[in-house]
Amino acid sequence: MRALTVIPGKAGTARLDEIAAPPADAQQLTLQSVAVGVCGTDAEIVAGDYGWSPAGRERLVLGHECVARVMRDGADFKRGDLVVPIVRRPDPVPCACCAAGEWDMCRNGQYTEHGIKQLDGFCAEQFNADPGALVRVPAGLGPLAVLVEPASVVAKAWEHIERIGRRAYWAPRRVLVTGAGSVGLLAALLGQQRGLDVILFDRATTGLKPELAHALGAEYASGDLAALLADKPPDIVLECTGATPVVVEVMKSNAPGCVTCLVGVSAIGRSVSLDVGALNRAIVLENDVVFGSVNANRRHYELAVEALSRADPAWLSALITRRVPLDRWGDALQRTADDVKVVIELAA
Ligand code: BGC
Repeated sequence: MRALTVIPGKAGTARLDEIAAPPADAQQLTLQSVAVGVCGTDAEIVAGDYGWSPAGRERLVLGHECVARVMRDGADFKRGDLVVPIVRRPDPVPCACCAAGEWDMCRNGQYTEHGIKQLDGFCAEQFNADPGALVRVPAGLGPLAVLVEPASVVAKAWEHIERIGRRAYWAPRRVLVTGAGSVGLLAALLGQQRGLDVILFDRATTGLKPELAHALGAEYASGDLAALLADKPPDIVLECTGATPVVVEVMKSNAPGCVTCLVGVSAIGRSVSLDVGALNRAIVLENDVVFGSVNANRRHYELAVEALSRADPAWLSALITRRVPLDRWGDALQRTADDVKVVIELAA
């Protein structure tokens, strides 16, 4: 069967491979991959900047955002059920967080991730999975569940923002989301579902991104971020660009008690000059919180399924700007300015 594979750490090694079909295994379900989303992490792996191959192997099967179909009845699943496989698996020790089912908070770094860290991903025509690592897709959501994984990352960020916010009296009104890629747009959706005033900031000035923001009832802004922050200080920020100047700007200027969640991963080596004293004063004297958030556990996947099920399917569908068949995987990995989410289709 066909699979998209790569040698982690080596740029230019992605290729469509013929690999062995997954063996029959009484403990596992065999799944047919329906669609796999492509994200910035995949781009980094393909560029040789991230990722780890499975022990004793050179190549890693790519793909971690997936909707798949159960091929045979087993566990509580029926043939034909759509499921989303969970990306991260707990470390083998396990650390206290992994032991509690919160592998997204793994403390010893020995977690593994499908398609990213030491476990094959889902961009293969078939794969085996532990039934306990699958999330059910409700009929109403269908193949749009390819968005569940990025939405789970955002659902976790929102859950933690709200838990942190409850450290004291808190009545947030305005949320700023920086970056209108799929993660930023999904973060804006979850803000809108909470009844907050949402501002989505991105460098694009025209096209689909402002349209999708306006369709949510959100305000869309681009250009001078410092002026926007001064004019409309946010109570919550979800930073989804990882762009160093944006990261610095949102930490510096916001409403008192602002909770800023860093979701975007920055490239290493992009230095900017920074007045740490001024930043410290801005954070301490206003009780601000800046924290990072990565990955998601089962609870967040379930929150993501719930949030996506409440969303307008036409809006979700519009997030998927290109659907590319597996044999044209190269096109899928080539990002264009208009892309929000590109999906590789493996089965109807
Ligand atoms: C994935 C996460 C993963 C992170 C770091 C992201 O693209 O969505 O599940 O934890 O990369 O590897």
